[in-house]
Amino acid sequence: MYDAAIIGTGPAGLSAALCLKLHEKNLIWFGSPAMSAKVEKSEKIANYPGAGLVSGEELNARFRAHAEAMGLTPVDQMVTSIMPTRDYFTVLANNEIYEAKTLLLATGVVSGKGFPGEQEYLGRGVSYCATCDGFLYKGKRIAVFCGGKRFEHEVRYLAEIAEKVYLFAGYPDCAVDAPNVEKIPAIREVRGGLKLTSLALADGREIEVSALFCLRGAVAPATLLPGLEMDGAHIVVNRRQETSVPGCYAAGDCTGRPYQLTKAVGEGNVAAHEMLERMES
Ligand SMILES: Cc1cc2nc3c(=O)[nH]c(=O)nc-3n(C[C@H](O)[C@H](O)[C@H](O)COP(=O)(O)OP(=O)(O)OC[C@H]3O[C@@H](n4cnc5c(N)ncnc54)[C@H](O)[C@@H]3O)c2cc1C
Repeated sequence: MYDAAIIGTGPAGLSAALCLKLHEKNLIWFGSPAMSAKVEKSEKIANYPGAGLVSGEELNARFRAHAEAMGLTPVDQMVTSIMPTRDYFTVLANNEIYEAKTLLLATGVVSGKGFPGEQEYLGRGVSYCATCDGFLYKGKRIAVFCGGKRFEHEVRYLAEIAEKVYLFAGYPDCAVDAPNVEKIPAIREVRGGLKLTSLALADGREIEVSALFCLRGAVAPATLLPGLEMDGAHIVVNRRQETSVPGCYAAGDCTGRPYQLTKAVGEGNVAAHEMLERMES
């Protein structure tokens, strides 16, 4: 059992991870070894105290180096589901289960609500985890939304299991190429009855499938942790970064505007102190 699970390797997650590590807590930190794609994309950052005029690439590299120097290594896995129990949280990532006494959501802001019908068929044909649910669709016709290069190996894995994979890639140079993979245009709607049965496509076609795997860099917070109070795309928190779920805290862009590095690191730090207090109470 970990003292804390942190989800997100952006500045909010890093700030919290550093604080908990300095207090010698046993933590598990999920995200990407590349830290934050958003920070990496910033051309010039001029409002991060002490960093001067710095490129996002440089600052992200410094974040990575700081984590390494402190012995913090993120677990390169997407968290797809969290379940609260009375005293701890069960976190599911890549078909593995982790348990932690406290939880920090530092996932960045998740834009968009997915495809129309996606939420309705979640667990009834829609899945966010190829490793967890792929075997359920052995020999079947399935569809995959691949949101980036880092998920291509999961598409290849699904292609080995399924009879046919209809693939919609959300970026131009998708390198997945297998005889049973057919690239399709954008998905317009997820359809079915009790279970997902078909997808409507942007070219007007309707294709019959048993499942849709949505492989994205983020999962909407309320999908990750049902019962979480939201205000639109943002997690509702108080000044102690507490969410509506006891023991679960949130920090950074996921709690609302302004979307800024300094807000993210500040909130990550407040959350970590509150987590410490909870662990020790
Ligand atoms: C182009 C651009 C320029 C910007 N310029 C500036 C600037 O000049 N100054 C400034 O202050 N701010 C700037 N920002 C905003 C700043 O980058 C964000 O406010 C900041 O990165 C937010 O940090 P965060 O930790 O909340 O989230 P992010 O940095 O978005 O990090 C979230 C992390 O969570 C991970 N994650 C999400 N879901 C899961 C999951 N289910 N399982 C595992 N990991 C998960 C993601 O992979 C990511 O690593 C800019 C943003 C962009 C896009």
